[in-house]
Amino acid sequence: MPDRGDRSLAQVLTSRPHTIEEQLSWDTLPEQAALEASSQANAPPEVLAATVAASAGQGGAVSAPWSAGTPAGELVYPAAPALARVAGNLRLTDAHASCDIRHIVLDFGQTAMPVLEGQSLGVQPPGVDASGRPHHVRLYSIASPRDGERPNYNNLSITVKRVTEDHSGAPARGLCSNYLCDLKAGDEVRVVGPLW
Ligand SMILES: Cc1cc2nc3c(=O)[nH]c(=O)nc-3n(C[C@H](O)[C@H](O)[C@H](O)COP(=O)(O)OP(=O)(O)OC[C@H]3O[C@@H](n4cnc5c(N)ncnc54)[C@H](O)[C@@H]3O)c2cc1C
Repeated sequence: MPDRGDRSLAQVLTSRPHTIEEQLSWDTLPEQAALEASSQANAPPEVLAATVAASAGQGGAVSAPWSAGTPAGELVYPAAPALARVAGNLRLTDAHASCDIRHIVLDFGQTAMPVLEGQSLGVQPPGVDASGRPHHVRLYSIASPRDGERPNYNNLSITVKRVTEDHSGAPARGLCSNYLCDLKAGDEVRVVGPLW
């Protein structure tokens, strides 16, 4: 692996973008060139205004959940799962693609679910198994930042792949992934977590 160091954040000068040929010849990223102090000085006003508007949300402090100092896990247990409401279910893959992957936003309302990046949620599919017990919980990685899809809204998202075959390729209908991928806005989901 090339040593990226802090050059992974290197900016490209608008006056001299790297050519494809140059990039293909690199084993390591080039040194950061000194930024042009007036690189945008000649840009049209509407471009400058659009740039400012587009980058207004970048940087700045991100409010951490109260658990960030001492990350919390398993605040909600399977015996008493939290009820989250589906705020959105967006199919990420094309309708004709071979797999169905969904971005699902869950709204927790008044229930505390302070997650950190890297944690997972447990989802309990409805119904019972062959022995009459509730289905076991399936884990899904948190796909949103710690303050959710929208700061000050108590939501978070997961990304779910619909399981239609088992590990050997034989047709199989994954219980929880199909349940999640078929959810509609407003549906309730039983959730436990956060989990590591
Ligand atoms: C820490 C962790 C994080 C996870 N994060 C995500 C995530 O972000 N998104 C996500 O979609 N899944 C994630 N998973 C997998 C998820 O927990 C479920 O295992 C998956 O959705 C299948 O559950 P199911 O109930 O649909 O299938 P089941 O009904 O449990 O299984 C049906 C059949 O499919 C097979 N099978 C199970 N999972 C798969 C698979 N992935 N590929 C092929 N065959 C399979 C089973 O062996 C079985 O034969 C994660 C798992 C872990 C452990």
